[in-house]
Amino acid sequence: MGGSLVVRRIGRLTTWTTPRVEDAALVVRDGAVAWAGADRDLPPGVGDLEELDACGAAVIPGFVDCHTHAIWAGDRRADFLARLDAAAYTPEGIASTVAATGAATDEELVGLTHRRLAAMMASGTTTAEVKSGYGLTPEAELRLLSAIEQAVLGEALHVEATYLGAHVVPDGRERSAYVEEVIATLPQARRLGARWCDVFCDDGAFTVEEARRILTAAAAAGLGTRIHAEQLALTGAATLAAELRCASADHLDHVTAPDAFALANAGVVGVLVPVASLYSRSQRWSHAVTLRDAGVTLAIATDCNPGTSWCESMPYAVQLACLCMSLGVDDALRAATLGGAAALGLHDRGHLGVGARGDLLVLAGDHEVDLVAHLGAPAVAATVIGGRVVSESKSSPRRVASSAPTSTKSLSQPVGTSA
Ligand SMILES: [Zn+2]
Repeated sequence: MGGSLVVRRIGRLTTWTTPRVEDAALVVRDGAVAWAGADRDLPPGVGDLEELDACGAAVIPGFVDCHTHAIWAGDRRADFLARLDAAAYTPEGIASTVAATGAATDEELVGLTHRRLAAMMASGTTTAEVKSGYGLTPEAELRLLSAIEQAVLGEALHVEATYLGAHVVPDGRERSAYVEEVIATLPQARRLGARWCDVFCDDGAFTVEEARRILTAAAAAGLGTRIHAEQLALTGAATLAAELRCASADHLDHVTAPDAFALANAGVVGVLVPVASLYSRSQRWSHAVTLRDAGVTLAIATDCNPGTSWCESMPYAVQLACLCMSLGVDDALRAATLGGAAALGLHDRGHLGVGARGDLLVLAGDHEVDLVAHLGAPAVAATVIGGRVVSESKSSPRRVASSAPTSTKSLSQPVGTSA
């Protein structure tokens, strides 16, 4: 059962299902949005509900981060330093993360992942996808799926687990044998809670033909499909995503205009991961506009991973989508909420229409544009999931004690559950 809450004194309310409302209020009952509108029109009978005073701040739907690799151990400092000064450092690559993840205890892995999920919630993520992928043997990949399940246990954050056994071909393994092994593991992955199967289809990873085999088998095993496509080179992965009608094609740095139209026609969501583009110093940004102009439904995700996008913050990804990829603020916020939900096939979130999950953010500023314009500042004052405040900043100067009735929960008082 979800929580019940009335949020009052909202400066600007974004629902995506109605025009923006100023001086607004929003009612969540049993975890779902029951009413939204002007504060002065608040219906009677909400006096029994806990009250959250937004103090004039803007409210938007919670972020849906639809592409993360948030379960790993170890670090990739060598890779980061080598990217800055190739002459002085030797990159270690994904193998070092696989080794460190394999060496970590279950408890350590769950703890590390749990901390990352808490950081995501603090910056406004209310639903996240998490991929396996740093195991690279069937047993190790299945262990990661179990650890994801344990890390999520008791958390308010909703997590969608994805099986990414096909991340890279492990050193010393014969390609076709490894592909068959991944395929043979699909039913177990599903039993362990995976809803999705992903393949890293790119130069140095899996070929289009291998990806087709794995994703076709995944669909037959009852898993939804998504694909890392056209990040490092143009390989034909986007064409494959359109052919298979994958839920999403992700990265797409090298996508062509004809591919973009094919994705739009097939209803494949294009997932932008601008932090990875920045981190890898690719200087490729124009694909976002190519995809948008072709009519592709866009999502924005963090791609949180140790090697190429160490970032749990959706506000930061949105800032880069605007400043580097030239998306408008509304386009970017829509992609980070509704678009992420579409990429995960979750139509009950990403918006605040009546009946949607009560997943919302009280922003630090009184206008949603400030989330993009104010760089380096905390963007989210409070994260609400299913009608419960799960995280809130204690430093926001906008938060003042409310003079409303005794049931009021002012944002100046710590009530969060995620430290
Ligand atoms: Zn990725």
